[in-house]
Order: sequence, then structure tokens, then C-alpha cells
Amino acid sequence: MRAILDPVKITLTTLKKLALACHTQENTIFLMLMDILELWKATLGELELTISKPSFTTWFKQTKLLEISDERAVISVPNTFTQRFLEHKYNPAIIKSLQNVSGVKIKEVTYKTHASAMISMQDQVQREISSAANASLYTAAPTATLPVDIHGLNPRYTFENFVVGRANESAFAAAQAVVANPGVTYNPLFIYGNTGLGKTHLLQAVGHYLLKKNPNLKIIYVTCENYVNDFINYLHTSRILEFKNRYRKADLFLVDDVQFLVGKGGSIEEFFNTFNELHQHNKQMVFTCDRQPDAIPTIESRLISRFKSGITAEIISPDFETRAAILASKCKDKAFFLDNDSIHYVASIIQSNVRELEGALNKVIAVHQFKNIKPSLSTIKSVLSTMIVNTNQNQSISPKHFLEAVATFYNLKLDDLLGKNKEQRVALPRQIAMFLLRKDTSYSFPFIGQEVGGRDHTTVMHAYNKISKELEVNNRLREEIEMIKKRVYLVEKP
Ligand code: ADP
Ligand code: MG
Repeated sequence: MRAILDPVKITLTTLKKLALACHTQENTIFLMLMDILELWKATLGELELTISKPSFTTWFKQTKLLEISDERAVISVPNTFTQRFLEHKYNPAIIKSLQNVSGVKIKEVTYKTHASAMISMQDQVQREISSAANASLYTAAPTATLPVDIHGLNPRYTFENFVVGRANESAFAAAQAVVANPGVTYNPLFIYGNTGLGKTHLLQAVGHYLLKKNPNLKIIYVTCENYVNDFINYLHTSRILEFKNRYRKADLFLVDDVQFLVGKGGSIEEFFNTFNELHQHNKQMVFTCDRQPDAIPTIESRLISRFKSGITAEIISPDFETRAAILASKCKDKAFFLDNDSIHYVASIIQSNVRELEGALNKVIAVHQFKNIKPSLSTIKSVLSTMIVNTNQNQSISPKHFLEAVATFYNLKLDDLLGKNKEQRVALPRQIAMFLLRKDTSYSFPFIGQEVGGRDHTTVMHAYNKISKELEVNNRLREEIEMIKKRVYLVEKP
């Protein structure tokens, strides 16, 4: 039997029936299922490095490997549009990555849309389990969730699992001081730094620690995005008092990524009031942010001064020794042995952030487990070779490309889009262009302003906030933006 099923969707009963039908152990079946998932994960990891981030997200996020056998692989895609695009543009890259990762010589890749893939999987299972006529293979699949506890905390994000080095020691020390004397020594604690450096980990570690000391503690951990969405929901259902009570009763208030408050008027006001209430009652607050308080644009200065009123601590990129120590610790967690040379090698080539470091390690593990080989410096070098080559390429799509796609879509001339015309039929597409440039590329607000007819960065921020807000309620706009994106990526230069 080939490994063809998505284990997320398989029930334990079916697993047993499959094992029975195939005269093998449940474990063996499960391993086969796992392998194919791991294999595709590793393949995607490799592809992700050779394709721009927006393209990867658009075209590969919802794909799955259904089947891999002697020279052929079958991939499940969400719709025929994606199928055609992948066939047309990414077939060779997919084949190459699949071959690299699996070691299987692949001659042909075929695609199936999710719906037809589902049916054919069912067919095959029906054939294989002749005695299991009632097998309910496709029970409601649990949505892909992160492993979190009832408070929304990831059990792995503890102080014990946090490796301390020069880059994060001040933030770690501040967090330790906070848990030693919550609500008193430093309130709030404001942790900031680039993505993937351990802010969320440290924030949640505070939660775990204090909960362990007092399991009855009323703790609220929330991403700022969820806080804002929650606020809007309660507002719509006229239950704002309930909302206020919910948040103002917290003993410990942990808010992740507070930069998301930018441009969220009503939510900011409520956040500010919650802050004051909790502060007055010495309830500890910890916030994370991708920048220091002063650099958060358009948030009222009174909130910024609140953010700064306790202690602020920055986390920067880890140095080589810390990267190596983190890798050693993750290997221990995952019960995967790597010798020192290998650890040093990985730590030396992945320098940007801890999330990427973990990603590289996961890829190493997936490939070695899939091929069932023992890791050595040379096998690791070969697994990570694309990472070295591609870190320098970092291709992105040119602003002009986006602007042209928007202009064409709305039947405007590029000059109109860049010009001064304030009529709605031009002004709205212009704002959409600015929004898309910010959302889908790594260009800064000032740079985008410059590209869109020499505008001020505040105009770009305004456009970004306006369109983001509008998208929450306007389905038509969402569809239009999706269509524009498809145009952008369809004609993207390789
Ligand atoms: P951020 O919130 O800054 O974007 P995260 O807290 O999500 O970053 O960290 C990304 C990943 O890296 C997580 O899996 C986290 O456990 C891990 N990580 C980051 N810093 C450390 C560290 N010092 N020790 C151990 N793991 C770390
Ligand atoms: Mg985070």
C-alpha cells in the first residue's frame, strides 16, 4: 500500500481497520502517513527558499502531497486555477525539490483538486478495506491549531526552554524580575524586537510561571489582533460592558504584538482604559511589539508613554554561541542527535533569527527521518545547501509591477494612479496599490510613498490602515484584491 492519507483526518478506528486490512501494525500505517507529511513539509521548506514569499503563500500554502511512488507524485491543490498555475510555472521546481528531499527519481507530477482528491482517496480506501463498509474516514477534521493550553499558551514556551544569551539576556532578566514581584517591580514590561527572536516565547513564559505558582490566577493572553477583533465583535453585539469586564478583571494581562493597535481607534481607547484600570490595581501587564514604543506610528502619545512607564527590553538577533546553544537544546527536546560539528555548521549558516534556525533544524530532521539516514556534516550540508544559495537572492516583486496590475485592473493609466486626481475612482485604487505594496512586499512606508507619485509616508500609512479596516467588512473589495494579486503573481518574472 502506498501512503496516501492525511493523518489529520483519519480516525483511530480507521487506522485500526487499515492496519487489519493491510496485515500490519497500526504504528506502521501511521509512520507511512507521517512520512508523506514530513516529506511534503521538507519539500515546501526547500521551495519556499527559491520563490518570493507572496508567491509561495498564494500558490503553495494549501497544497498537499497525496502520493509518491516510483516515478510519480500526486499533489492536491485547492482549485483548477492553482493547478494550471503550478503546472505552467512551478512543475520543474517541484520535481527538483521533491527529488532532492526524497531521493526518488520523479518523472511526472500530476495535480488533483481537493474535491476530486478526496473522492479518489475514498475510493482507494474502500477498495483496501473491503470489510470496513462503514468506515468513517472523513470525520470533521480538527482545524489546524497550534498546540496550546486552555489559556492559549504553547506548553513549550517556558523559561526552562528559553536559552539565554547576550541578545536576550536583558529581556529575560526583566521577565524574571516581573515574575518575582508581579505588578510591582516593572509594570508594564514591554518586550520588543524583530520577528522570530523569542518575544512570544518569553511573554508566554511569564504566564506559565505565574500560573504554576497560582493556578487560580486570572490570566489573559491575547494577540493584539484577537483583542481588536474581539472588541469589534462585542461592539457589534452591543455587549461592550461584557468586554470591559472581561479584560479589566485580569490578574495578568499578556498582549502579543501591540503594533497591531495602529489605526484601530475605538480599540485603542478601550485598551488605554483597560491599561489604566489594571495598572491602578497593580495587575501585571506584559506586551510585545516589533518596535520600540516611540517608533509606533499614529498611536496617541498618552498610550506610548504608558508603554514606556515600566521597563522596555529589546531582543536582538542571537550571536553564534547562542544559536548553537538553542540548536542543542531543540535537538534534545526532539530527541534527535547532532554532533557538535553539525550544530556549529547549522548555527553558522542560519544567522537571521531563531524561527529560521528551528525551521532549518526541522528540515534536517524531516529529511533524515524520511530517508532513514544518520545525520553527518555532509548529509546536513546537502540538506541545507539551498538555504545558503538562496539567502542572497531574496527576490522581490518590483513596485512598478504592482502599480501596473492595479492600474490595469481598474482601467486606469499608470500616470493617473501616480498623479494628483482625488476622485474616488482613482483615489481608491491608489490606496489599494499602497496597501498591497505594504502588505505583500517588505518595502517601507516612505519608499512606497516615493514610488506612488512621491507621496508622504503618512499618506501610505493612512491608506494601509483604511484598506485594512475596509477589508474586514467589504467582501467585494477582498475579492478585487485577490484578483489583482493573481494578476501580479501570474505575470511575475521568474
Ligand atoms: P517572536 O514572537 O519574536 O516572533 P517567537 O517567540 O515566536 O518569536 O519565537 C520563534 C521560535 O523560536 C519559537 O519556536 C521559540 O520557541 C523559538 N525561540 C526563540 N528564542 C528562543 C530562545 N532564546 N530559546 C529557545 N527557543 C527560542
Ligand atoms: Mg511573536
